[in-house]
Amino acid sequence: MPKKKNEKTSEASALKEKLFMKRKNTGFEMSEQDTAKADKFCEGYKSFLDTGKTEREACAEAVRLAEQAGFVPFEAGASYKPGDRVYTVNRGKAIILAIIGKKSVAEGVNIAAAHIDSPRLDLKQNPLYENEGLGYFKTHYYGGIKKYQWPTIPLALHGVIYKANGERVDVKLGEDDKDPVLVITDILPHLADEQYKRPAPKLIKGEELNILIGSRPFRDDKASEAVKLGIMCILNEKYGITEDDFVSAELECVPAYKAKDVGFDRSMIGAYGQDDRVCAYTALSAILAVKGTPDRTAVTVLTDKEEIGSEGCTGLKSSYMKFFLFDLAECFGVNGRTLLSHSKCLSADVNAAFDPTFAEPFEKLNASFAGRGVVVTKYTGARGKSGTSDASAEFVSEVRRMLDKDGVIWQTGELGKVDFGGGGTVAMYVANLDIDTIDVGVPVLSMHAPFEITAKNDVYMAYKAFRTFFKN
Ligand code: MN
Ligand code: MN
Repeated sequence: MPKKKNEKTSEASALKEKLFMKRKNTGFEMSEQDTAKADKFCEGYKSFLDTGKTEREACAEAVRLAEQAGFVPFEAGASYKPGDRVYTVNRGKAIILAIIGKKSVAEGVNIAAAHIDSPRLDLKQNPLYENEGLGYFKTHYYGGIKKYQWPTIPLALHGVIYKANGERVDVKLGEDDKDPVLVITDILPHLADEQYKRPAPKLIKGEELNILIGSRPFRDDKASEAVKLGIMCILNEKYGITEDDFVSAELECVPAYKAKDVGFDRSMIGAYGQDDRVCAYTALSAILAVKGTPDRTAVTVLTDKEEIGSEGCTGLKSSYMKFFLFDLAECFGVNGRTLLSHSKCLSADVNAAFDPTFAEPFEKLNASFAGRGVVVTKYTGARGKSGTSDASAEFVSEVRRMLDKDGVIWQTGELGKVDFGGGGTVAMYVANLDIDTIDVGVPVLSMHAPFEITAKNDVYMAYKAFRTFFKN
């Protein structure tokens, strides 16, 4: 009798093995060598995060790395041959890199598109004021933030100011160990009774995200606004600016700390701006790592403005990527739309990793998990798939076979339970160009927080996924 029972069990196990979906976990499936490679890869990733905390800085760093790898500025109308490496920069905030493939661009190109802007606090155009002896900057937040997460953390100021004469001044304050940092204050718990009654989105209101920037009055001044004057004197000395110049500035407040390993086992990375510089760095590294000439032309796009809906001339709702691809097609006497219609795109963006502490908004069968590989997201959107391109079964099938063939550990994902919220990526704007597109990226814990978490193994698998894509 017991024997028969065992036989039945093993038959069930065999059938299960054959018929059920096998969930992967990088911790079990990655070899020791691959884990070591992931750790090493993430050292480069961490320095990319520290070097490029804004879209402008990430773009400049991408240019530096591209030139180091032999990429040269693209010239419309020039003649190119397979293996040539080019890049083009859009207004200092977005970059497109391409390696000409063996096949004609008439057969399409392979695009990995990530974004290098992240949620942050932008200074208003007239930011500087003094209140009760304290100096402040007014801000307007950029992208989807939980406003209460931003007070009482050290902040750095990054960006550019254009002076009255048009001269550009670069600002980066709060990153050097010797630099001062800036901060937003919060009310002490003893006196927070009224604040606690506010609904969470208003716990800290938009107009309360005021950045504390000084408190010492200008020595010889007996007039009002002596603190503001003291600050303006320092800014004038350091940057040569007057208050008017804030009008033509883009100054972004971001967390002042550096990327760190997280966990006793150092298996994760904690840092600001991993959405989406984790996919930007992996997609960039993947194209830089291409040896020789790929079959199909490889393209990496690092775009701006995704966090505010891809608007503006540096976001992917604009035509800059299409114009580049048209110019590229023209170099080979190919019709631009022929190139577009045969192209494929991995929209390289993060997804929400299942959070066991906050399990409610996730549907476990379809959520992505930190440490289970790169996540392939067929659709994002909200309320009945509104605001997503929803990749076709045919394209999912192609991507699935491509990743499996090269041993990339991957998982599926969706952005939370049905009707629990939602969001989008650049996928739909690329798909609107008649390009097959699917989201492929890294699962993130605490997404859009000032300190986001990713698993190193997933970062490495994202890199492998883009490497594989550029081989095909
Ligand atoms: Mn993103
Ligand atoms: Mn985002």
